Amino acid sequence: MIKFLDLQKINAQYEQELKAAANRVIDSGWYLMGKELETFEQNYAAFCGTKYALGVANGLDALRLIFKAYIEMGVMQKGDEVIVPANTYIASVLAISDNDLIPVFVEPNIDTYNLDASKIEEAITPKTKAILTVHLYGQNSIDQQMLAICKKHNLKLVEDGAQSHGAIWNGKVSGAIGDAAGHSFYPGKNLGALGDAGAVTTNDEQLAKTIEALRNYGSHKKYENIYQGLNSRLDEIQAAFLNVKLKYIQQDIDARRKVANYYLENIKNPAIILPNNGCHAELVEAHVWHLFVIRTSKRDALQKYLSDNGIQTLIHYPIPPHKQEAYQEYNYLSFPIAEKMHDEVMSLPISGVMKVEEIKAIVKALNNY
Ligand SMILES: *Cc1c(COP(=O)(O)O)cnc(C)c1O
Repeated sequence: MIKFLDLQKINAQYEQELKAAANRVIDSGWYLMGKELETFEQNYAAFCGTKYALGVANGLDALRLIFKAYIEMGVMQKGDEVIVPANTYIASVLAISDNDLIPVFVEPNIDTYNLDASKIEEAITPKTKAILTVHLYGQNSIDQQMLAICKKHNLKLVEDGAQSHGAIWNGKVSGAIGDAAGHSFYPGKNLGALGDAGAVTTNDEQLAKTIEALRNYGSHKKYENIYQGLNSRLDEIQAAFLNVKLKYIQQDIDARRKVANYYLENIKNPAIILPNNGCHAELVEAHVWHLFVIRTSKRDALQKYLSDNGIQTLIHYPIPPHKQEAYQEYNYLSFPIAEKMHDEVMSLPISGVMKVEEIKAIVKALNNY
């Protein structure tokens, strides 16, 4: 059986260092808001090229806290609108609605699976205050057109960087391109903790200071609360693990790119549409291949065929947010491109620990289908 993602094997690569990191935290007697977090925040800010990185409890909270902080800062208020791609993971939308902001869905581009900048302006109203763009599957989603729209309409550009650690566009790293970014270190992400963890990156000092308080009950100083905050902190033990794994992230990205290139060059089946429609030239830096997502009109049959051949695949994602029961108020909306994607996409195994024979077996099975 070729697993979709072998987390045990991924973390076994760093077993000694992870165990040493855990021991260090256990022995320190200090488990929250300490040296490990401080070190990780410095390391991660340096990795992204931002002034600030703030550790929080998870990726959803990172995004929630950005909007909560903008509301506290008076940049936006409840009832304002945030543009978001219609084909994202639900967490992007939850971060908006949880703050009593209104998600306004915009279709993705069918080739990149990312927000289609040419469709943003028709969705802008006087209440629009931000774009939450998602670097879906690990590919940068920002282009010059999107930046120009933000400038023209005075919108904040927030990046959902949960899947895109280390992707580069225009000389900038994911998380440093917009005004603020939320990152997830969920175990299955490219930079994964051994539990939940997340971070906000930004160059905006006021935003950083606000989030620093909001993640800790709204307090800068113990027992003095200036905001009605959350408890959303990144544990010392997770920060210690992340300090280990961050050292190897570039190695992991390089290995993922090798797998992706092999798939792109060798999968040859007219029934299968490859990422970016098979066009790869521009994407060497901009894609970190968190997921390798193909499309096919007979998706469920192909998934069963692969499963029968011992290959595990997943669907990211089977139901778009506007069709979820949780968002009944949006169920009537129709986004044909997003809905087509949700019906046709399938994610192949990809990681830095796959064996060459496994990759070849997957390509062979797909080409024989
Ligand atoms: C994983 C993910 C999140 C949420 O991150 P968590 O750490 O799981 O809360 C948000 N957005 C996208 C696109 C994700 O893939």
